[in-house]
Parts: sequence; C-alpha cells; structure tokens
Amino acid sequence: MFNNRIYSAVFISLSLAAFGGCKTTTSGGAVGVKGSQLMLVSSQQLEQVAAQSYNKLKAEAEQKGVLNQDRAMLERLLTITNRIKPHTSTFRSDAPSWKWETNIISDKQLNAFCMPGGKIIFYSGLINELKLTDDEVAIVMGHEIAHALREHSREQVSQAMVANTTINVGAALLGLGGGAADLVGSGYQALVATKFSRTDETEADQIGLELSARAGYDPRAGVSLWQKMMNGKSGQRSPELLSSHPADATRIRQIEKLLPTVMPLYETARK
Ligand SMILES: [Zn+2]
Repeated sequence: MFNNRIYSAVFISLSLAAFGGCKTTTSGGAVGVKGSQLMLVSSQQLEQVAAQSYNKLKAEAEQKGVLNQDRAMLERLLTITNRIKPHTSTFRSDAPSWKWETNIISDKQLNAFCMPGGKIIFYSGLINELKLTDDEVAIVMGHEIAHALREHSREQVSQAMVANTTINVGAALLGLGGGAADLVGSGYQALVATKFSRTDETEADQIGLELSARAGYDPRAGVSLWQKMMNGKSGQRSPELLSSHPADATRIRQIEKLLPTVMPLYETARK
C-alpha cells in the first residue's frame, strides 16, 4: 500500500510533467462548455487503445454474424454521422479529420457509444425497441460524440489514476507495463463501461444538442428521446444506456432550458 502510494506519486508527477495536467479539450460553442480537465494520459495513447478495442468488438460481432446486418439502418446511421461530423469543428478543429467509423451490432441491448477518436457503435435494440426517429438518433449520436470530443474517458482514466484504483490501467496506458496491448482485453470495459459523472453528462447533453441542431436535426427531439428512455425504464427492459446516462426530470428540464440557444442554429441549418 505504502509502496504503491510512492509509486503512484512519482508516476503522477512524471505524467503531469509529460502531459501538462489540467487543460480543456474543446472550445465553448454556443452552449459554452468550458471546464478545465485533469489529463494524465495522452489522447494518442487512449485513441490507440480505443481503436484496438473497437476492432476487437467488430471482429467478434462479425464472427457471430451480427455486424451491420441491417443495411438500411446502417445507411441511416452513416447519413447522420456524416451530417454531424463537419460540425464537430465548432468544438475542436482536429475532430473532423479523426478516423470516424460507424457500425451497428444486431442485439437487443438498448445502447450506443462513441469511443475516443470517433469510433461509433449503435446496438439495433436502441433504435428498434424505442422506435427512434432520425432526430432522436442524432441526439443520441451527438451526445456520445460529445463524450469523445470532451475526452471524458481520458478524464475518467486520469481521475482513477489519482485515486490509485486503476494504477495498472494507467501504467499500461503509459507503457510502463506491457504497453497498450495489455489493455485491449479490458479496454472495452475501461472505455465503454466508464461511468460518466453528472457533469460529464450535462456537458455531453449541451454539446450534443448543439451538434445535432447545427447538422439540421431538431433539438426538441432531445426531450422526446429522454422521455422514451424514462418510459423504457419503467417498462420491461431497462435501457443499458441508462446505467451510465440517468434519465430524469432534471435532465429533461436542462435540455428544455437549452432549446432557445440551439433552435436558431437548427433553423439556420434547415434553410
Ligand atoms: Zn453520456
């Protein structure tokens, strides 16, 4: 324990020296998200792990015959990705040139995510069971992309390193252990099962709403989406998305409060 703490202190000061510690990953946009963030691993390291985890997930889905089976749904998702992608430049100039990818896995899970570097997965259950409209899909996608733009996973990994709970994850990321390859097995969990904080969730709602509005998707769908999520929760199946994305009246009220800011962007985009 004691040794661990010394190791951890040395490790963190080295990392701080290497990566500069607190900074912000995005510009404010119309919604004005600009909190400073503690970052102890580099974007490149996390993106490398994300890309490997993503490829592993795709390969497993391919093997099971559940990757991109619904061509029409894939086309819908690609259209929405391509419309949102250029507007990521509002928040960070490097994002439009990320190696974006969108895939669907046929599965009853009501879930979706965007890994660091723009690697998107939708589970068909989310769209089919909640009967999501394109506007609602765009809200989910915008929200998940916002987590990637703000690098919330990187922030979570960094905070966990400070808390000394995933020191091995941190060490592996920094190449102090066996290198990034060690993380691929657990990488999916580390990057996707990350439980984002309420602040992260609010930031992702704000940025996501602006992204979908700028791409010409109706931001009012943010309200109907989370209402569907809440109703799904009381029904038979609880959306997996809800375990990391609590849907409640507060969240919907915050979205409603943002509508006057983002509706003009949507109206301009529709012209
Ligand atoms: Zn979220």
